[in-house]
Amino acid sequence: MRASRTNTAPPVCGNLPPPSRAMPSVPSEFDLIRRYFTRPVTHTGLSVGDDAALVSIAPGAQLAVTTDTLVAGAHFFPDAAPRDLGWKTLAVNLSDLAAMGAQPRWATLALTLPGIDENWIATFAVGFFDCAGQYGVDLVGGDTTRGPLAMTVTLLGEIPAGAALTRSGGKPGDDLWVSGQPGLAALGLAHLRERIRLTDASRALAALHRPTPRIEQGAALRGMAHAMIDISDGLAGDLGHLCERSGLGATLDAAALPMAALRETGADEALARRCLLAGGDDYELLFAAPPCARDGIEALARRLRLPFTRIGQLDARAGPIQLRETGGSVHTIEASGYDHFIMNL
Ligand code: ADP
Ligand code: MG
Repeated sequence: MRASRTNTAPPVCGNLPPPSRAMPSVPSEFDLIRRYFTRPVTHTGLSVGDDAALVSIAPGAQLAVTTDTLVAGAHFFPDAAPRDLGWKTLAVNLSDLAAMGAQPRWATLALTLPGIDENWIATFAVGFFDCAGQYGVDLVGGDTTRGPLAMTVTLLGEIPAGAALTRSGGKPGDDLWVSGQPGLAALGLAHLRERIRLTDASRALAALHRPTPRIEQGAALRGMAHAMIDISDGLAGDLGHLCERSGLGATLDAAALPMAALRETGADEALARRCLLAGGDDYELLFAAPPCARDGIEALARRLRLPFTRIGQLDARAGPIQLRETGGSVHTIEASGYDHFIMNL
């Protein structure tokens, strides 16, 4: 947004007190950017403050580019803690780069604010830069506008040319793996909305408010996995995207689904499974890899201290996702994700 150049100097009239004493000073857009969104950068030629940022990418690297928006009322409660929101605004974008196997490098932040609440902005910035610092991201620019509360991050990452993990590389017979504990965030949301009462909501709420992007895992899976996606709209729905892009089907094993952390919240079994398969906001990695990579994947999980669970396999025939129950019966599962789930909970 370009600042208006009109209306800067008040007319000089003899008896009026200077405006600065008569009115509490309201920070301008530029004050806010300078105070809260200008930080030292570590790998950027020209950062916040000019008409565009300048960055250089390593020879032989490709840029991976992604954007995600969070809108108050749609993606978070308008009174959500600003520090968590700052973290999550960047973390959801980092998750997309993780799913490509890319190394995050630069971000821009477009912030739309209903008004100037400096305390809110300062706390949001703390959360944002916590996340940026942890994952080596320079904030190099953005836009600050007035309107209904929303934030958009564009994130750029580097990846050796040709090494990105896409959704389309799955092969028939590949194992399907998932990282961490999908379903926790959906349980946290249901608890927050008082649709259910968890006996221990702490991990579920942490998963909802402070998702951990799986950057290290994503990069380490290059050369091991054939295809990858991050789970933002529910495991079944996102698996559907991977299957569609790979031109394959999939069968999941009910007995193999990771349920332990969901059970520990006190959620009942049917709800826990539904959150695992169709919840949202997980930001875990779902990937396909050949059976010969099993030992390597297990070793990676141990090294990076995050479980990977083998939950099924890709099938040669394209079609709806199947779930094999413990007794051997097989049925089709709804690939519908987050929206459908939340509306029906
Ligand atoms: P322009 O009018 O040239 O687009 P702006 O006045 O919008 O520039 O922004 C001034 C500088 O501040 C630019 O470098 C822009 O990238 C940066 N900027 C604006 N808002 C933000 C923000 N929320 N976070 C980080 N940088 C920002
Ligand atoms: Mg601008």
